[in-house]
Amino acid sequence: MVRFLKRGRSETDIQETDVKVKEIVQGIIKDIEENGDAAVKALAVKFDNWTADSFRLSDEEIENTIQSLSEQTIRDIKFAQAQVRNFAEKQRAAITDIEVETLPGVTLGHKNIPVNSVGCYVPGGRYPMVASAHMSILTAKVAGVKRVIGCTPPIKGQIPAATVAAMHLAGADEIYILGGVQAMTAMAVGTDSIQPVDMIVGPGNAFVAEAKRQLFGKVGIDLLAGPTETLIIADDSADAEIIATDLLGQAEHGPTSPSALITTSETLAQQTLDEIERQLKVLPTADVAGVAWQDCGSVIIVDSLEEAVTEADKMAYEHVEVLTEDPDYFLENLTNYGALFLGPETNVAYGDKVIGTNHTLPTKGAARFTGGLWVGKYLKTCTYQKCTPEASAMIGEYGSRLCELEGFMGHKKQADLRVSRYKKHMVNT
Ligand code: NAD
Repeated sequence: MVRFLKRGRSETDIQETDVKVKEIVQGIIKDIEENGDAAVKALAVKFDNWTADSFRLSDEEIENTIQSLSEQTIRDIKFAQAQVRNFAEKQRAAITDIEVETLPGVTLGHKNIPVNSVGCYVPGGRYPMVASAHMSILTAKVAGVKRVIGCTPPIKGQIPAATVAAMHLAGADEIYILGGVQAMTAMAVGTDSIQPVDMIVGPGNAFVAEAKRQLFGKVGIDLLAGPTETLIIADDSADAEIIATDLLGQAEHGPTSPSALITTSETLAQQTLDEIERQLKVLPTADVAGVAWQDCGSVIIVDSLEEAVTEADKMAYEHVEVLTEDPDYFLENLTNYGALFLGPETNVAYGDKVIGTNHTLPTKGAARFTGGLWVGKYLKTCTYQKCTPEASAMIGEYGSRLCELEGFMGHKKQADLRVSRYKKHMVNT
């Protein structure tokens, strides 16, 4: 039986917030579609207190920004990018084009073609999310996207130097200091100063995620990657200090970031609650993490590991850490998660910042139907076909009857014409 020792915000509260966010985003998109750069400039002042002659950074500005960083910072960014690149290249190599003969003389194939241009959003409202630059810009380049542009907001009125360095080192062709819905919309629909792209990608807050949802169709998107969620599944072999640290470590993302524990051990659940209270007294980001835990944190007791799988699959959280005696049981049985972290040796922070898997991951149940961002998201799998004359005449006879069955007489003519042209080539009619 499933029991809540602590339960996060109700669905009704969440839906009310969603409706408000939807309306705000709709208004901003309309404003930019009608007023272009003038609207973008006004919104940048309104939301980020940011004015600039040009949102695009010049080569000189990029160079000066990078020079302001320590060598260690650059080395750290390069190390993380090497891990992300390495895994992304291996993933790209595993995606293959195919061409097969499905019937004598019938050749069918597919090619994986990179999208021509991509706009990558690198969040930065609360923290400079340096790592998001590796996750989107670098993977787009590995996929073979020709034009990759990046937008990131200013932080406290300043250009976020480490983020800009990461965007440049990841291979961005254009870098803009622009945040939120105005960044997503400007990249998607274009303005006088920003050429539109074919696809917008990257994580962000609820406004950014909603903007992607509303802009989808005008452009492609990767997935809906909103405020971070973390679920930990633990049995009585787990350590309450690790659980509390890992739950709060993600709750600090923002006050609406849910974190949850599912456990078979009520003792461990109670120890974790106590440990969270203790850590909140000393965590430097407790002002955010404490609110997130208070409002959106849950502790759920289950009777068995099977029940833990069922509950976790229903929640379909972005990050799932498994701290049980046999973590591989969850690798075999869980079906809905953005990324899985098996055993206490790894954790979400490794995945977020450095280990090499992508941190742009589905939230709000989207893990039921998509995985996270990866090279494959930038590729369009497009089919093609060819026939020999003999195969054309043979397929055409079936095609003609099937077109007529549906009443498509123009289609039938296409088939009949091929049959009449190529029938002479058929050996056994
Ligand atoms: P952000 O860059 O996503 O958003 C900042 C922008 O939000 C600002 O530039 C501003 O334009 C806009 N904004 C703020 N308040 C607004 C309002 N009232 N109306 C309209 N626009 C408004 O940065 P953030 O806010 O720090 O959020 C980053 C988010 O990214 C966090 O929620 C984090 O959890 C999430 N994230 C998710 C993933 C994932 O893969 N799911 C990964 C990394 C980060």
